[in-house]
Amino acid sequence: GARLYGALQDAYQDLRQTHQTVMQQERLRALGQMASGIAHDINNALSPAALYVQSMQTRETGLSARAREHLGVIQQAIEDVARTVQRMRAFYMPRVSELTLTPVDMNQVLLHVIDLTRARWSNIPQERGVVVHVESDLAPDLPKILGAENEVRDAFTNLLLNAVDALPDGGVIHLRTRVDARDERVVVEVQDNGVGMSETTRSRCLEPFFTTKGERGTGLGLPMVFGMVQRHGGDLEIESELGKRTTMRLTFPRAPTGVTGEQP
Ligand code: ADP
Ligand code: MG
Repeated sequence: GARLYGALQDAYQDLRQTHQTVMQQERLRALGQMASGIAHDINNALSPAALYVQSMQTRETGLSARAREHLGVIQQAIEDVARTVQRMRAFYMPRVSELTLTPVDMNQVLLHVIDLTRARWSNIPQERGVVVHVESDLAPDLPKILGAENEVRDAFTNLLLNAVDALPDGGVIHLRTRVDARDERVVVEVQDNGVGMSETTRSRCLEPFFTTKGERGTGLGLPMVFGMVQRHGGDLEIESELGKRTTMRLTFPRAPTGVTGEQP
């Protein structure tokens, strides 16, 4: 009994740590996206200012000493802002180089995600008498997609944790993969029979910082998932019925044949 209790404590510690890491990653990713957008806008606004200051300094020979001095101050200010933007870019850049595309087996990713999150839906909830079942229905011979495996894994971790959050009284989460019969794209579904979303929530759930979980939520999970889907040339469909179920359906182009020739 004591050993079991110890193991449970350990699992709980692990879980808390994983949860904190995920929250931190979500925040960082969203900040990165925001930083990149802001940096772009500031640079666009700054470049004419820099250009005109320089042109006045070199071409306007009749300027008073005082006007020159003021121009110098303006130029310094512009350079300071440019340096700040540079630092913001540096914060954002690492993620771009991280995005190396390799053939990714979605079935394997899902099995990995199930393992990574087990503490969240297995040990701990059962302690409260709540049971969450995770069932996988994975297509054999699923074609690979071309993707950044860590991004894809983070995204599905988020979707699975959202599904767990939607099951405060327990329930079933289905993970499914298949190939679309019409366009041969790879389809991955995460479905739960949980609390569902109201129409308002469904329409706003992709907005950064939108959450219905109060202090416990960041509202950054789904924006991150959506960003991942977009970077992979995929689609995200959200179906939800309040009080019944939610289905998140992600569709990806399959990797071109030849790229995945190394299949077992
Ligand atoms: P967070 O989980 O931090 O609240 P997300 O971006 O992951 O942020 O989700 C935003 C909101 O979308 C959630 O607060 C919740 O209202 C809704 N949502 C997401 N997934 C589900 C789901 N599987 N079932 C019901 N609601 C969901
Ligand atoms: Mg979430």
